[in-house]
Amino acid sequence: MAVDSTLPSPLGPPACEKDAKALQFVEEITKNVDSVQERVLGEILSRNAETEYLKRYKLNGATDRDTFKSKIPVVTYEDLQPEIQRIANGDKSPILSAHPISEFLTSSSGTSAGERKLMPTIHEELDRRQLLYSLLMPVMNLYVPGLDKGKGLYFLFVKAETKTPGGLLARPVLTSYYKSEHFKTRPYDPFNVYTSPNEAILCADSFQSMYSQMLCGLIMREEVLRVGAVFASGLLRAIHFLQINWKQLAHDITTGTLNPKVTDASIRECMSKILKPNQELAEFITKECLEENWEGIITRIWPNTKYLDVIVTGAMAQYIPTLEYYSGGLPMACTMYASSECYFGLNLKPMCKPSEVTYTIMPNMAYFEFWPHESSTSVLSRDSPPRLVDLADLEVGKEYELIITTYAGLCRYRVGDILQVTGFHNAAPQFRFIRRKNVLLSIEADKTDEAELQKAMENASVLLKEFNTSVVEYTSYADTKEIPGHYVIYWELLIKDPANAPTDAVLNQCCLQMEESLNSVYRQSRVADNSIGPLEIRVVKDGTFEELMDYAISRGASINQYKVPRCVSFTPIMELLDSRVVSKHFSPALPHWTPERRR
Ligand code: AMP
Repeated sequence: MAVDSTLPSPLGPPACEKDAKALQFVEEITKNVDSVQERVLGEILSRNAETEYLKRYKLNGATDRDTFKSKIPVVTYEDLQPEIQRIANGDKSPILSAHPISEFLTSSSGTSAGERKLMPTIHEELDRRQLLYSLLMPVMNLYVPGLDKGKGLYFLFVKAETKTPGGLLARPVLTSYYKSEHFKTRPYDPFNVYTSPNEAILCADSFQSMYSQMLCGLIMREEVLRVGAVFASGLLRAIHFLQINWKQLAHDITTGTLNPKVTDASIRECMSKILKPNQELAEFITKECLEENWEGIITRIWPNTKYLDVIVTGAMAQYIPTLEYYSGGLPMACTMYASSECYFGLNLKPMCKPSEVTYTIMPNMAYFEFWPHESSTSVLSRDSPPRLVDLADLEVGKEYELIITTYAGLCRYRVGDILQVTGFHNAAPQFRFIRRKNVLLSIEADKTDEAELQKAMENASVLLKEFNTSVVEYTSYADTKEIPGHYVIYWELLIKDPANAPTDAVLNQCCLQMEESLNSVYRQSRVADNSIGPLEIRVVKDGTFEELMDYAISRGASINQYKVPRCVSFTPIMELLDSRVVSKHFSPALPHWTPERRR
C-alpha cells in the first residue's frame, strides 16, 4: 500500500516510509476510537460466543455493548481462579476462550494470597504485542534523529519456565515474547539493532546472560545510542553488576577470552566472534570503573547515549534521582504501558519529563472500560454491574480504574491500575499512570497506599538533600508485634559524601516528616487515638535491596518484571532486611492533627 506521507500528522514528519505507515496507523485508530472499540468487542464476543463463560451469563450470541454491559460481571483475578485452575489442570474445553490457551503468563503482581497470577493467553496475542512494539521506534524517531546510525544497549532477560499440572507453560510475558519467533527471527531494522545477541538474551542463567550482554555493550560502547531495560530497576541492577564485575570484564577484553563462568555453549560461540583482545578498551574501562565516583558513569562509558529507555512511572518513579546520578541527567523515555493480561498503549511524546508522561491506549488491543475512581470503593454487585465508561467517553482530569476484555478471554477484568485522563490525541484519551490499587500499610483504621507512602518518602528525603544523600530503595512493614503497632520503613541510602552523612537527629526528623505527610486517618490514630506508635526508619546496608531482588528471583520472579515490593511481611524477607540494619530511628514527636483539618 502506498503511503501518503504528506498527510498532516500532529506527530510530525516520519523518518522513513515504514515509520510513515506506522504513524498513519496510530493516527487512524486514535481518530476512530469508538468504532475500533465496538469492532474489537464484537470480534471478541462473536468468537467466544460458545465459551462456557459467556454462556453462563446468557449472552446468547449478543455482541453489542449494551447487552454485554448489562449481563457480564466485573471481576478480579480471584473470581476467575476456579476457571484458571481448571485450564491449568489440563481442561481443554472452551472455558474462557474459543481459541486454545497457548500458555500462561505469570504476572509479577501477585494475588492477595501472595502467589503469582497465572494469566491464560492465546497464540495470536503475540501479534498484538509485536504490533505495539512496532510502533515505538517510529514515534521515537520523530523526536530523536539518527537512531539508525548505531545500536541500543538493552538488558533483556528470560526466565526458566515451569509447567502447570496440565502441561501448559507458565512463564513471564517477556520470556514468552523473547522466545517467540516474532522476536528471535525479527527482520533486520536499522533503527532497532541491539548490542545484545539473541543467545545472550535467551540464556535463562541470569549471571551468564547479564555478563555477556554487558560485555557486548562494553565492546560496542561507541556505537551505543540508547541504553535501557524494561523497568528502571533492571537498568540499575545492570550498573550494580558492572560495579561488581568490571575487573573480570576488563580482563576478558584484554585477553580476548571469555570468563569461564559463562558456560552456555551458544553464548560462547557467538561471543567468540565478537570478543577480540583490545588493550586500549580494557584500560579505558579500568580507568573509569576504578574511579570512586560513579556519577555519570553511563555517559562516560557510552558517550553517544542520547537517552535512557526505561519505565520510570508508577512504582518506578523513586529510581529517577539514582538514574539521573548515574547518567548525568540523560532524558528517560517511558515508551509503553503494558501488562501480562494485555499490552495497553504507548507514550506519543517519549522524550517528555518523567512527571509528564502520558500513555495513549491503543483501541485495537482489547476492549477497555473505565470505572470512575470515586465510586470504585463501592461494593461490587453481580446483579447490577456498575456503569463503566467507554474509552471514547472519558473526561479530562478524572481518575479511573482500568477494566479490560481481551481476545484471550478475560471479560471485564479489573487490572488494578488507576489512571488519570490528561488530554487527548485525536479522539484517544491520554493517561497518566497514577498507581496500582492497593493498600500497603494498615495498623488499624488507617490505610496507606503506595502513592501516599511514595509521597511521604519524597517529602522526608528532602531533608537529606543538604547532606548530598538520597534514598535509593525503600520498603515498608506494618509492625504489629507490639501494641500499639507502628510503621517501619526500610531505607537504603546513597551517601555521596560520607564525611557529611545525615545525623541521627536528621533521620529522626525524616520519620516525623513522613508522618506529617501521611493521611489524616493515620495522624488521628497517632495523635488522638494513640493506636499507632512512632514511625520508625531502619537504614539498611548498601546492596540489601539487590539481595532482596536476588532472593525474589531465586524464588521464581522475573528480572525484567521485578518490582521492589513496597511493603513486606514474608518472614524470610523480613529476616534478611533486619539482619542488614545499620541504624534505627524513630519519630521524635507527634505529627500535626486537628479534627477539622483536611489535607
Ligand atoms: P505484570 O503483570 O507483572 O506485567 O505487571 C503489569 C503492571 O505493571 C501494570 O498493570 C502496571 O501496574 C505496571 N506497569 C506496566 N507498565 C507500566 C508503566 N509504563 N508505568 C507504570 N506502571 C506500569
